Amino acid sequence: MLACAPVRWLGGMVTLCAVGCATSRTGVAPARPTTAPARAPLQLSIVYPGPTDVVQAHDSCFLFGAVRGGAGPVTLSVNGTPVRVFANGAWIAWLPLPDDTLAVFRLVARADGDSALQDWTARIAPRFRPPAGRAAWIDTTSFAPAGTVALPLGEGIRLAVRAAPGATVWLRLPWGAAIPFLPDTLPGEPAWGVRAFATVTAAYRLPPAADRYVAWLPAAALCPDGKAACATLEVIAGRDTATARWPLSVGLVDLTFPSVVVLNDDTAHVGTTDSLTPGKAVPWGTYNWFFPTGTTSVLSGRWNDQVRLQLSQHAVAWVNASDVVPLPAGTPPAGGVVGSVRLEPGPAAVTLRVPLPGKLPFQVTEQERSLTLRVYGAGSDINWMQYGRTDPLVTRMSYAQPTADEVTITLDLARRVWGYRTRFDGRDLLLEIRRPPQIDPERPLRGRTIVLDPGHPPLGAKGPTGLWEPVATLAVASKAKTLLEQAGATALLTRTDSTPLELFARTHFAELHDADVLVSIHANALPDGVNECLLLPPPQRRARPRARRRARRRARGAGPRDGTRGLRAGAPDLDARRAHRGSVHHAARTGGSATERRGTGALCAGGGAGD
Ligand SMILES: [Zn+2]
Repeated sequence: MLACAPVRWLGGMVTLCAVGCATSRTGVAPARPTTAPARAPLQLSIVYPGPTDVVQAHDSCFLFGAVRGGAGPVTLSVNGTPVRVFANGAWIAWLPLPDDTLAVFRLVARADGDSALQDWTARIAPRFRPPAGRAAWIDTTSFAPAGTVALPLGEGIRLAVRAAPGATVWLRLPWGAAIPFLPDTLPGEPAWGVRAFATVTAAYRLPPAADRYVAWLPAAALCPDGKAACATLEVIAGRDTATARWPLSVGLVDLTFPSVVVLNDDTAHVGTTDSLTPGKAVPWGTYNWFFPTGTTSVLSGRWNDQVRLQLSQHAVAWVNASDVVPLPAGTPPAGGVVGSVRLEPGPAAVTLRVPLPGKLPFQVTEQERSLTLRVYGAGSDINWMQYGRTDPLVTRMSYAQPTADEVTITLDLARRVWGYRTRFDGRDLLLEIRRPPQIDPERPLRGRTIVLDPGHPPLGAKGPTGLWEPVATLAVASKAKTLLEQAGATALLTRTDSTPLELFARTHFAELHDADVLVSIHANALPDGVNECLLLPPPQRRARPRARRRARRRARGAGPRDGTRGLRAGAPDLDARRAHRGSVHHAARTGGSATERRGTGALCAGGGAGD
C-alpha cells in the first residue's frame, strides 16, 4: 500500500480524460480518526489497450487493468456492465467495439466510501468501407499479393481481392490481355490466432463473403519499376465501373543460368547469431529447416523480403532475403554424389561423417529411435558404410534415393533419441548423435543438468496488474530451480535479473554447461481475435504439439562439446521468434468474431486475470 496521507476521497464529481491520462477525481476529504490505518485512494489503471496500441479486431476486444487502493470490497463497471475484480486488483473485460476507429470505455470503480472514474479511449484499426452510392467498388487494402514477386516462367500467382458482390471482375494487363476473377465460394477464414488458440470450433465458422474474388496470374514481367505498365483491376457492377492499379511488380527468375547463393544469418555482422538460417515451407511460415551458415543453394523465387531456394528438383524452402548472399554470376550450383559414410564412436556421442560434393542443404528428421539425414541436390554413391567398431547406440544404417537428387541416410538407435547436432567440417557433414545418460528410474533427475531459460527481456507480455512476462518467468524459473535441485538435478538459469539476453546467448549457455535439457519458460499473451475466456486449459499445452515437440527435440540436442556454433539446441528460437514477429508477446491482443462474442456474452466472467 502506498504511504499516503490518511484521507479518503469521496466519489461524485468526475473529470473526463483522454487517452493515457491518469484517473481524475474531485471530492471532499472528511476528517478521519488519526488511529485509522493509512490507505491509498482508489486508483484505476488500464494496461491494454495502451495509448499506443491499435486494436486490430473490429468486433470485440479485451480491456484489462487493475484497481488499487480503497478499502473493503471493490466493484468495477465498464460502460455500465459489472466486471469482476480479483483479490490482487486485476480485472479483465471482453467488450463489444463500436463501428469506429475510436472506442470510449467508461470505467467506474467503487469501494467503501471512495470511487474512481476514468474514460479510456482505445484506437481501432481503420477498415475499408464501400463508398456510398457506388455499385462498383474495390477494397484497395485487400490486394493479395502486393509488392514484388519473382518466379520462373511457367509458374503463377494466386490473386485475391475484395470488391463489390455480384460484379464482373477483370485484371487488365498492360499488353492487352485480361484475366478473369471468380467469386471465392469458401467461407471466410478466421484470424490465425483463433485457429491457434480458441478451443471452441464455433469460432471458426465465418459466413461466406460474396465480396471476395480470386484469379490466377501466370508469371510474366509486369510493372517492373512499380510504375510503368502495371496491371489494373476493373470491377463492373451494373452501369458502374471501378478501377484500381494492382500494386504488384512481377519479375522472372532465369533458371537456365541459376543464381547460386550462400546462406548467412549474420550479414549484418552483429556476431551474436546462432549461425542457422531457418527455412520455411511458405513465405513467412513456420520453421522446417535449419541451414548452417555456408550452405549454398539456388535462388528460384522472391516474394518481398522472402527468398525461395530450390533445394532439389522437387523441394523448395523460403528464407529471409537478409540471410541470402549471392555468389558471383556463373557460379555452378553445388551437386554431385554422396560417397561412402563412416561412423566415428566417441565417449559422449557417435558421429556420422558424410562426404558431400559441396555445402548442400540438408534436413534431419527424428523418430522415436531413429534419425534420418536428408541431403538435397545429390545422388547416392554410398558404396560402403563403415561402422567402425560395433557401437551399442547405432544398431543399423541404411540409405535411400527417394528422388532423383535427394539422398537419405537413416540411423536406427538402440535407445530413444537424446540429442543431436550437425555441422560442416571441410567437405564433410557431421551428424553427432548424443549418447543418452543412464537414468535411475527411482530418481530420474539425479545427475541431470537442466538449464532454465526465463523468457523474455527486452520483450514480453504484460498482465492486468502490469506484471511483466520476464518478471513472472524469472519467478517461475527460480521456483523450478529449487524443485529440480531437491530432485537431485543441477539447475542453471540463463538469466537471474532483467538484463536483456539475446536468443543465441540462451542456447549457447546451455551448450557451455553441457545441459541435458533446456527449458524455455514463457507467459505469452494472445493475438487479436481470441477471447481468452474460452481458453481452458492454457493454449500452448494443447494447441502447439508440433512446435513443442520440435522445441523439445532441439532442446535435447544441447550438446556436450566445445560450444561449436551451428548446434541444434535452439529451443527458444521457434516459439520466441515466431511469437515476437507476430507481436504476440507485447500485449494480450483481443477481439473476435460476432459468433464468438454472442456465444460468451459481452463480458468475461473472469479466470486467468489474476497475475
Ligand atoms: Zn515470451
